Amino acid sequence: MSRDRVLLERALERGEQDGGSVEFKERLSREVHLVDGRRESLAAQLRHRVLSGDGEATYVVGVTDDGGLAGIDPDTFSESMDVLSLLAEEADAHIDDVQTWGVHGGSESLDSEAGQATGSSGRGLVGLANIRDGAVLETDDEHVVIGTAGHVDHGKSTLVGSLVTGNADDGDGGTRAFLDVQPHEVERGLSADLSYAVYGFDDDGPVRVRNPDRKADRAKVVEEADRLVSFVDTVGHEPWLRTTIRGLVGQKLDYGLLVVAADDGPTRTTREHLGVLLATELPTIVAITKIDAVSDERVETVEREVERLLRDVGKSPLRVERHGVDAALEEIGETVVPIVETSAVTTDGLDVLDELFDRLPKTSSDEGEFRMYIDRSYAVTGVGAVASGTVMSGEVEAGDELLLGPMPDGRFQAVEVRSIEMHYHRVDRARAGRIVGIALKGVKESALERGMVLLPADADPEPVREFEAEVMVLNHPTRIGDGYEPVVHLETIGEAAAFYPEQGRLLPGDTGKTRVRFKFRPYLVEEGQKFVFREGRSKGVGTVTDVSPGR
Ligand code: GDP
Ligand code: MG
Repeated sequence: MSRDRVLLERALERGEQDGGSVEFKERLSREVHLVDGRRESLAAQLRHRVLSGDGEATYVVGVTDDGGLAGIDPDTFSESMDVLSLLAEEADAHIDDVQTWGVHGGSESLDSEAGQATGSSGRGLVGLANIRDGAVLETDDEHVVIGTAGHVDHGKSTLVGSLVTGNADDGDGGTRAFLDVQPHEVERGLSADLSYAVYGFDDDGPVRVRNPDRKADRAKVVEEADRLVSFVDTVGHEPWLRTTIRGLVGQKLDYGLLVVAADDGPTRTTREHLGVLLATELPTIVAITKIDAVSDERVETVEREVERLLRDVGKSPLRVERHGVDAALEEIGETVVPIVETSAVTTDGLDVLDELFDRLPKTSSDEGEFRMYIDRSYAVTGVGAVASGTVMSGEVEAGDELLLGPMPDGRFQAVEVRSIEMHYHRVDRARAGRIVGIALKGVKESALERGMVLLPADADPEPVREFEAEVMVLNHPTRIGDGYEPVVHLETIGEAAAFYPEQGRLLPGDTGKTRVRFKFRPYLVEEGQKFVFREGRSKGVGTVTDVSPGR
């Protein structure tokens, strides 16, 4: 059983106690718990719990007063967290961490699979919110986010575990153990935190965590380090694509880290993951893992296979062992992909990764006009329509006038920013990279759709029904011909679209031009944007090359 489940079970056993730091709530709703009078007394109760716990309290949500596992649906849970965050703010505290577990309908037992991000259909959630005294930490200026990918069992979790802890693995998954049992963070637009590990650097080098699973350890690193590196699992779970898209497109990643095990070598999955990382223009590092498990000749063979794979997709491999870290730092980017040989068992190569992560610059920038593709929307009593998503570029402030659209008929409409919430906190402004919920004046929630975009009021957007793209077919059973109709995932857009390849067809492994026509409505799409498409078992990636074909 995982440490965290023990935590939950212990909290349930101990139960609520007068003068204790644990509070049970079945649910918290805006309508019931935020009304005047109720709100103040709940905030006072929360303050009391925090003080009782020496600055830390635990709210168990989705349980009855006596600790029975009720389980609530994800939307209700999400709303409960929103309410809790407002109460915490009022009590001069903040939600520091949220973990969820699935509960089998009616059976009153914890579902051990809850950590596998299997979606929660038919299951209720029980969650544990850790609340800390004081306001939330602002740490993002020197915070590099790495998206990890690679074939299952190729050593992703182990490598990340060894990096953040500084401990060697026993080759038996010892380091990875605690990372893999992380319960999934509840999937919510407002602060979907996909990060699963973090470490940092200060003037003396790496600042590591003892146990990446312990909140206190992580918080200590966040506090002590001048620079933070966090890892986001981009493709670790099935369903492959959903998580990938959310992880890669929904979050502002700075670099990709693709692992390839020296024993297995690159697989079809490796190839697909590489395609997706590169399609999103992430400068990527390849780590050959498990070099302790094979001969030098085998490492050499695999390295050559990886180099071939990279050249096949138009990239230049750069062996860091041969050319050095300085060269890698200088060259990494659109075309150059550094390759590092590693072993979590002998810790070979981990120092190289440390140095890279210490010195790599942040790549996702705040520059440009404000832009946010809407990921989710919800209605909040007394506040109205809220659109959530990741700020792609620029900055947004409460009171800003914006354009929202396109509507199904292609038009944009004027709206105003009523308020902004970030990580359970109300903020005055938010800049690129932040996942926010923006409350909007001038529009009903029912008019908001995923894939719409928010822009400055003076923008002159031209939504399109059709565009031209350069695509690469990663994997398809047969050929792709006229009228092939995959779902195109571009930013938060996820829409059926018909392909009309320039040459009449595209074969697996092919790169070529195609016209892409959204089936139902126009969207705002721009040249240079990357997308992923998928239909059944077929997958591919593409770049928008022309948004006014034939015009
Ligand atoms: P993931 O599925 O990519 O996250 O892979 P894991 O990190 O779970 O690793 C799968 C298995 O490979 C575990 O049993 C690890 O102990 C083992 N492993 C990972 N890295 C190394 C390594 O560098 N050397 C050896 N010998 N085994 C490793
Ligand atoms: Mg893993």
